[in-house]
Amino acid sequence: MRLDAAIADAAERLSRVSDSARLDAEILLCQTIDMPRSYLFAHPEDVLDELTRDRFETLMLRRLNGEPMSYITGTREFWSHELLVSPATLVPRPETELLVELALREIPRNAEWQILDLGTGSGAVAIAIAGERLMCKITATDISPDALAVARENVRHAQMSNITLLEGSWIAPVAGSKFELIVSNPPYVRDDDEALKNLGYEPLSALAAGKDGLRDIRTLASGAGGILVPGGWLMLEHGADQAKDVAAILQASGWSGIACHNDLAGKPRVTVARWDGKQAPS
Ligand code: GLN
Repeated sequence: MRLDAAIADAAERLSRVSDSARLDAEILLCQTIDMPRSYLFAHPEDVLDELTRDRFETLMLRRLNGEPMSYITGTREFWSHELLVSPATLVPRPETELLVELALREIPRNAEWQILDLGTGSGAVAIAIAGERLMCKITATDISPDALAVARENVRHAQMSNITLLEGSWIAPVAGSKFELIVSNPPYVRDDDEALKNLGYEPLSALAAGKDGLRDIRTLASGAGGILVPGGWLMLEHGADQAKDVAAILQASGWSGIACHNDLAGKPRVTVARWDGKQAPS
């Protein structure tokens, strides 16, 4: 079978599971023949031998089964960094770039802030911020050693010398430190959310957060103030239908300046708040 025919056939089959079927087909074929995409357009008449077709079919079946492209290729682009991802980490989402954008809006260009990324996963958010604010020191934590191994590789590849990775639950590894800004994309999906069925390849521990999906956001709201300087920022990604609940939780924990921002799809996605140094009301 010729390359162009193989792509057309694969794209047709993938359209059942993917909105970007043709692109997926091309990328999977490139991975099979270990060539850049430009090769596919320059040599549409090349013929795939049987062994290569078998290898292509193996990748096709994984994708047809619903496995994310990023796990098959092992990489994902985020904030123009090419990142490794593995089933130990969430695939970084485009909407999470809003978290980075809002953080950069508040961190002055030459600031030497201490910044904390809680539940860093692949390290996407930490690396994006670190690359834009070289004078800042970014600490990134995760409870999963397997996720941290992926983050470590990404930090090394991105050559970020201003990131420190620490293992542990939420703020536990940084107790006693002080930060100017904390960002987090915590798990926030409800345990019984139907959407989890389609996210079966990604780590449940990075997605699900109790009956109402707010378990970890509550933990962060009550603990993060203690490790912020007065006036310090907390920025949290959450579900599109959680903005009100998140605001109420933050308010009850003594945060001020609470404001929610919409992602590119127009959905309320990131809430920011400030810590004025006072204790939470009892
Ligand atoms: N945005 C993800 C999704 O719903 C969830 C990410 C998360 O829980 N942090 O697919």
